[in-house]
Amino acid sequence: MRIVLLGPPGSGKGTQAIRLAKQLGIPQLSTGDMLRAAVSAGTSIGAKAKAIMERGELVPDELVVAIVAERISRPDAKYGFILDGFPRTIVQAAALDDILRAAGLRLDSVLELDVDEAALLGRILNRAKDATANGHARADDTEAALRVRLEEYGRQTKPLADYYREQGILKSVDGLQPIDKVASSLLEAIHTQGEGVRYAASSSP
Ligand code: AMP
Repeated sequence: MRIVLLGPPGSGKGTQAIRLAKQLGIPQLSTGDMLRAAVSAGTSIGAKAKAIMERGELVPDELVVAIVAERISRPDAKYGFILDGFPRTIVQAAALDDILRAAGLRLDSVLELDVDEAALLGRILNRAKDATANGHARADDTEAALRVRLEEYGRQTKPLADYYREQGILKSVDGLQPIDKVASSLLEAIHTQGEGVRYAASSSP
């Protein structure tokens, strides 16, 4: 199963991607994690990406597309994967379609976490404060970078919802439910045919 998980910073996308990957037995592929690993390892990709990431901007498409193309060609991704943080632009989405098409494959589902974006800045600033207190802060957890990350999402990544809606594979899930409910709604969305449906856990007490 080949899945893309879309959602703005602070939507809980990373947490849900990890859970879903475990449940489905497929790898979670986070381009943010891959790029941070490249920065830590001091590779040439890391050197190109470091300052851009610290500002909260998007790394150039060709660089990220090359990383993903290599990663999804590995044996552990043969039977599927969850992409977390990729694609983030229409150019990346079209490149992913091309890569998969060339291998006779396609995406099965694109899941969008639907959240109130107005509330996100406060939520991610609090999370960043906690991370700083625990010594786990990311270099792009500053208020300035977080504002840029949200702005980049709205401008470059949000249009992907329409791109995938037109392909008939977009499923939207209410991301403001409790974590377990979001997780069950995502599973329900994956296993249900049909588009344009908003998934909320149906078994609420
Ligand atoms: P994330 O961990 O997904 O929040 O990503 C952290 C940062 O890595 C982003 O703010 C971007 O600078 C960079 N990044 C991650 N994925 C992508 C992508 N698909 N395209 C461009 N930049 C990305």
